[in-house]
Amino acid sequence: METVLNFINGKLVESQGEKVWPIFNPATGKQIRQVRMSTEAEVLEAVEVAQKAFPEWAATSPLRRARVLFKFKELLQRDWDSLARLITEEHGKVYSDSCGELTRGLEVVEFACGIPHLLKGEFSEQAGRGIDIHSTMQPLGVCVGITPFNFPAMVPMWMFPIALACGNTFILKPAKTDPSLSIRLAELLKEAGLPDGVFNVVHGDRHDNEILLREPRVKAISFVGSTTAAEYVHKVGSEYGKRVQALGAAKNHGLVMPDVDINATADALLGAAFGAAGERCMALPIAVTIDDETADKLVAALKPKVEALRYGPGIPKESEKEMDFGPLITQQHLNNVTKYIDKGVEEGATLVVDGRNKKPAGYEEGFFIGGTLFDHVTEDMVIYKEEIFGPVLGIVRAKNFEDAMRLINDHQFGNGAAIFTNSGAAAREFSYRVQAGMVGVNIPIPVPMAFHCFGGWKGSAFGALNVYGPDGVRFYTKMKTVTTRWPEQNIDSQAAFSMPTL
Ligand code: NAD
Repeated sequence: METVLNFINGKLVESQGEKVWPIFNPATGKQIRQVRMSTEAEVLEAVEVAQKAFPEWAATSPLRRARVLFKFKELLQRDWDSLARLITEEHGKVYSDSCGELTRGLEVVEFACGIPHLLKGEFSEQAGRGIDIHSTMQPLGVCVGITPFNFPAMVPMWMFPIALACGNTFILKPAKTDPSLSIRLAELLKEAGLPDGVFNVVHGDRHDNEILLREPRVKAISFVGSTTAAEYVHKVGSEYGKRVQALGAAKNHGLVMPDVDINATADALLGAAFGAAGERCMALPIAVTIDDETADKLVAALKPKVEALRYGPGIPKESEKEMDFGPLITQQHLNNVTKYIDKGVEEGATLVVDGRNKKPAGYEEGFFIGGTLFDHVTEDMVIYKEEIFGPVLGIVRAKNFEDAMRLINDHQFGNGAAIFTNSGAAAREFSYRVQAGMVGVNIPIPVPMAFHCFGGWKGSAFGALNVYGPDGVRFYTKMKTVTTRWPEQNIDSQAAFSMPTL
């Protein structure tokens, strides 16, 4: 069985760890590889080499650092097809979706290529008589990224391109269910000219993460995963003196106003709820209406569309059209999603379309589940309160606009929210008042572009700064402000004991 290796100091190295995790092709349900959890000594070795590589990389001019990333961008484009296939093989998402995730990662690389401009700092001439002030943004040192299974390329690329461009060194700890892509990224960075030790990958589980959270040489942690883990990582990392940005779970709401084109809105909800089998933190698993007539029309429009969803392997046979979505990541996750649907039925929601126990022909062992649609979901139900992370869409019937705003804002998560309407006033009111970090107006998945920032509110994110964009540059640098005077020689000088004022 092929073992996925660590990448430390520019070399592929086999871990000596005893714990082994199986990697499946979720479409066939067959094990294809395995990965070893790293030993403490291996994690510490990665920290050691990243620490050693830091001074030289930090002193490399931003322009030269950007050129390495520019070359990396070219190599990503050269190997596009094989990278996308690898994502599909281990994660299960359909090929075009793997390309979409790669594109979103590539855009952050492109943003990071502009780092000489982004690191220019500020300058005040004559802040006092003969005194100038300038600020610079200097790198932090060794930074760590701990990432989830659902975006094996994009989420790491939210982090390391900016961290490296700013002059930091980096250790990536990817999810253990689909870890191979991280090694391909490390190899491409090396081929692009990144010096050894600047980017390292260690595989592992919580035990390995604990070492990184407490290790004094690690200066910053970027985390993306479940909320329980994000909250924990933020707490412990902060206690150990690190900068931490920790993004957690989500339950995004789409408010459907009575004035919309129902068919077009149903299509928008369909892609956002069922794309990637619902395994997206910016998926839209809850649609809220404010009157029964709109709800009835929406359910009538959605029912045949959900029944007609096509799911199967992420790479179609040559003559076939691509599927709408692929399998879930593991059998265990499939069991969890199935239990949530059971729970929804038990709680009294109306099951309009049932996706349970349906497998595409020839893929009976794969971790598949069909699209599920619930109507009459209410606030007290577990299927409303918790993140399901599967292809399940629920309709909540609010009493009116105020009631809809209240329930959306009362929800524990606030990653994204969207409104579907033709009314500028309703859209403006919604955008202003909604308690979520990313808002869409007639945009079902409002993931900001690389030159803006990504981050949720409430239980969806912990830490002051968002990921990528200008916040990414702030997160991966510390500011230094220099106040300068060049006095003429032989002037009369006097000691001053009061607070200097200009
Ligand atoms: P997960 O929390 O199980 O694992 C994510 C990472 O966290 C892994 O690398 C894992 O090793 C590590 N981890 C898990 N528990 C930990 C702990 N107690 N201490 C330290 N590290 C720990 O999440 P997952 O199942 O891989 O990913 C799915 C979750 O990620 C969903 O909840 C989804 O909403 C969330 N997610 C959020 C965003 C966002 O931007 N907010 C983006 C993608 C995914």
